[in-house]
Amino acid sequence: MADSSGKKYVLSIDQGTTSTRALLFDVDGTPVHVAQKELPQIFPQDGWVEHDGNQIWADTLEVCRAVLAEGGGPEQVAAIGITNQRETSLLWDRATGEPLHNAIVWQDRRTADLCARLKSEGKEATVQKKTGLLLDPYFSGTKLAWLLDTIEGARARALKGEVCFGTIDSWLVFKLTGGASHVTDATNASRTLLFNIDAQDWDEEILSWFDIPRALLPEVKDCCAAFGETAPDLLGASLPITGIAGDQQAATVGQACFQPGMMKSTYGTGCFALVNTGSAHVHSQNRLLSTVAYRLNGEVTYALEGSIFMAGATIQWVRDEMKFISSAEDSEALAKQADPTSQVIVVPAFTGLGAPYWDPHARGAILGMTRDTGAPEIVRAALESVSYQTRDLMDAMGADMEAAGLSAPNELRVDGGMVANNWFAQNLSDLLGRPVVRPVVQETTALGAAYLAGMQVGFFGGIEGVAAQWQQEARFGATMDDKTRDSRYGRWKDAVSRILTV
Ligand code: ADP
Repeated sequence: MADSSGKKYVLSIDQGTTSTRALLFDVDGTPVHVAQKELPQIFPQDGWVEHDGNQIWADTLEVCRAVLAEGGGPEQVAAIGITNQRETSLLWDRATGEPLHNAIVWQDRRTADLCARLKSEGKEATVQKKTGLLLDPYFSGTKLAWLLDTIEGARARALKGEVCFGTIDSWLVFKLTGGASHVTDATNASRTLLFNIDAQDWDEEILSWFDIPRALLPEVKDCCAAFGETAPDLLGASLPITGIAGDQQAATVGQACFQPGMMKSTYGTGCFALVNTGSAHVHSQNRLLSTVAYRLNGEVTYALEGSIFMAGATIQWVRDEMKFISSAEDSEALAKQADPTSQVIVVPAFTGLGAPYWDPHARGAILGMTRDTGAPEIVRAALESVSYQTRDLMDAMGADMEAAGLSAPNELRVDGGMVANNWFAQNLSDLLGRPVVRPVVQETTALGAAYLAGMQVGFFGGIEGVAAQWQQEARFGATMDDKTRDSRYGRWKDAVSRILTV
């Protein structure tokens, strides 16, 4: 099927932390062709993580060309959308398009001391108020400061406009347009620590802390916008780039969470939950992040975001370290075998705990074991730990939203590798006491970028068309009684309280 212009597809580029993918979506939002390349990780020192910008670009070109060849050529494509690993930061030479340094990846902790210093100077309240974020090496701002401080002459050249900074979306648009566009979208900008999410502009005060010249920064556009046209020699035709969002925001769009209170959670290695807060920038009292969910026609929709460090990674741990299962899928069968009266709790604080605890020094624990506790009970508790952590986030979001006069989320749309596990999806619903819904198209991140790009060129209809297109594949309703749910969650909170160091 083709749209009214006769084009069959939207091309979605999904540049993630471990892989680069290109997908062709048809007008029904179905992924029809996919090409993928794994991305090598560079670990120069303990706690440092980098990517080669040129590799990211070469891989992107390769997967785009591969998927276009499968789909019948660039003539079939109405527009390009981009979604990307967020916060990862790159500097490049505006004239030559060559990176000045490897990209510093979101996971990189090299600026921990700088963040600690700024915190001790009392700057976190300003950061939180203006950017919705916390002072953490995770975000781009201190990574950019490090690059400017470290690369000889970079700051002086930046002042003269000779150097560009960008997150990966920005880098890919620059390369795809042959250097014609230096742009980003409001969601990616909102993860830099440099962007005032109320004013929707780079923040002079925060830029001055790091001595960051404005000339270095990309122009910030809506998520649906004319970002540029691809240079004709690259993909065999000039194609418009019309949609951009960071990965979690793209998944929020791909899950059609367009109304305040609608919440999505993605369960991969870690878990990222976002709830739509509408036109309200909700200032969290529970150390959640406030961020731009999307910006359309100049109108900002905000979200509250929380993350869990160990979601699917907890299942990897019972597989690879405990050796209780040989594949992640086996966790489902084992959980079903577990003694249902078992009171075992696993707290997977292997690298500390994220929102709403933010305790980097907490470490994991298994509590409540008896003489007959075995692998099934511990595997079940590992799966349950992800449900309990989701409840922590949902409660924190609900409290923040109610304090802002908004309704708390009352169901959860889920995606990511872990939600193939039906036992987990049911347990999540039981422990949340709310329905858990799984969509037909689980490529929600890539789909979100395709939706954004397509909306701009009339491919899927507007936001209503996208919302109507979203379809559930399975719905899990809570079957646990309130008393059991409350007593189990109470045991989880008790277990967490025993390992917290702050
Ligand atoms: P990422 O994008 O972070 O690599 P994916 O969305 O591909 O993650 O999901 C992979 C994660 O999901 C792994 O950590 C794995 O342990 C977990 N996982 C995959 N299948 C299952 C399953 N059936 N049950 C529980 N966990 C699973």
